[in-house]
Amino acid sequence: MHRPRTARLIAAGILLACLGAGWFGWRYHAEIVPRRYNPFTALHVADEPSFATRFKLMRAGTDAGYCRSALSTSELKAASLPDTMTADGCGLRNAVRIRGGSVAVSAPFTASCPLALSYALFERHVARPAARMHLGADLRSITHVGSHVCRNIAGTSRRSDHATADALDLVAFTTAGGTRVEILKDWQGNDREARFLREVRDGACRLFRGVLGPDYDAAHADHFHLAATGFSVCR
Ligand SMILES: [Zn+2]
Repeated sequence: MHRPRTARLIAAGILLACLGAGWFGWRYHAEIVPRRYNPFTALHVADEPSFATRFKLMRAGTDAGYCRSALSTSELKAASLPDTMTADGCGLRNAVRIRGGSVAVSAPFTASCPLALSYALFERHVARPAARMHLGADLRSITHVGSHVCRNIAGTSRRSDHATADALDLVAFTTAGGTRVEILKDWQGNDREARFLREVRDGACRLFRGVLGPDYDAAHADHFHLAATGFSVCR
């Protein structure tokens, strides 16, 4: 009568012991799991993103040192900026000035470390491969219209992600062959430029916390708003 119950308890005990051992091994002997799949190890920008990247980016959002050491593995030219937080919810903390990476940027821009880190991953693992796949060429430059400005979200009293340099607005991509793809004129349709932009948007959603584009509203018809903080959204 009691035997099946005892057997179930023993089985449950063995299962719990195995799970516990697995957790301990993963947590304290991180080398047994490849770095790109292990949420407890450092983030290296060259590693192909995986499900663990989301956890590492969350950690980068709360741990300034972790974020900076992850950013140092990227090809971005990034110079540290002094903290200048102001009382009204604007300013910089753990921010850098980005002067481009293996893909040029239309102008240097200021970014919080988490934004810079997501951008580094985006440039390497989303924008460049998408250009090669859909446009048949290397990506030469990314055109943006700014990242850091002290303002509220339009029509609200809430600070924008831009107030703390946690968001970047992209408008166009140019290949080495001279093809320029603009969100405003190329988003609609199903030609290679439109497919490139959709792949870029969808890829960005895996690396940024918030992504807003033409599918979101008319205010984003001409740009992708890529944010490292705020609501988790992908449209
Ligand atoms: Zn924006």
